[in-house]
Amino acid sequence: GPGDGPARAGKRRLGVMGGTFDPIHHGHLVAASEVAAAFHLDEVVFVPTGQPWQKSHRSVSPAEDRYLMTVIATAENPQFSVSRIDIDRGGATYTVDTLRDLRALNPDTDLFFITGADALAQILTWRDSEELISLAHFIGVTRPGHHLNDPGLPEGGVSLVEVPALAISSTDCRVRVAKGDPIWYLVPDGVVRYIDKRELYRGE
Ligand code: ATP
Ligand code: MG
Repeated sequence: GPGDGPARAGKRRLGVMGGTFDPIHHGHLVAASEVAAAFHLDEVVFVPTGQPWQKSHRSVSPAEDRYLMTVIATAENPQFSVSRIDIDRGGATYTVDTLRDLRALNPDTDLFFITGADALAQILTWRDSEELISLAHFIGVTRPGHHLNDPGLPEGGVSLVEVPALAISSTDCRVRVAKGDPIWYLVPDGVVRYIDKRELYRGE
C-alpha cells in the first residue's frame, strides 16, 4: 500500500488536513505528524474551512482568526504549510472542491486527505465519494472515543492509522476558555496567546 516502503523518488506526496481549526490543537498536529511519517509525505498542507453560516448550531469564529491560528501553530515545522483556498472560495466547504483545487495547483503530486475517524465514517454520505476517491487517498486517524471501523469504502481508497490518542477537541478548548479554565499545552503557546489577544470564545 501507499504506506509501505521507504520514501522513493517520483511524485511528490502531499498530505491535506482539512478542518474548522476553531481552534487548531495538538490533536490535529500529532495526527498530521504521524501520518506524514507513516506515509512518507513531503509536506502536509492545513486547509481551514470556509465560513459556513453555522457549524450545526453554533457560530464559527471568523475565517481570518482560524487561518492565523493555523499559521501560528504550524509556522515552526518546515513540513507544514497552510492554504487559504477554502477560505478564499467562500461559503461552506465541500471536500471535493478542496481536492479539485489542490490537484490543479499541484501537478505531479499524490494527495493524501487526512481526516479523523469520526469524519471518515461520514464519507459514505458524501455525494461525490467516487470522485473523492479518484482525487486523493483517504487516511482516517484514530481519535479518542471513535473506533476505526471500516466504513465500507472502495478497496484501496482508504487507510486507517493509529495515532497516539490525545483527548483534545476544539469544542473542549472553547468551553474551557469560556469557563476561564486553562488551555495551555492543549494548543500551541502562540495559539493560547492569540485567543487571549482576540478575546475568542469568551462569551460561549
Ligand atoms: P470541533 O470540536 O469543533 O468539532 P475538532 O476538534 O473535531 O473540532 P476539527 O477542526 O473539526 O476539530 O477537526 C479537523 C480534523 O481533525 C477532523 O477530521 C477531526 O476528526 C480531526 N481531529 C480532531 N481532533 C483530533 C484528535 N484529538 N485526534 C485525532 N484527530 C482529530
Ligand atoms: Mg470535529
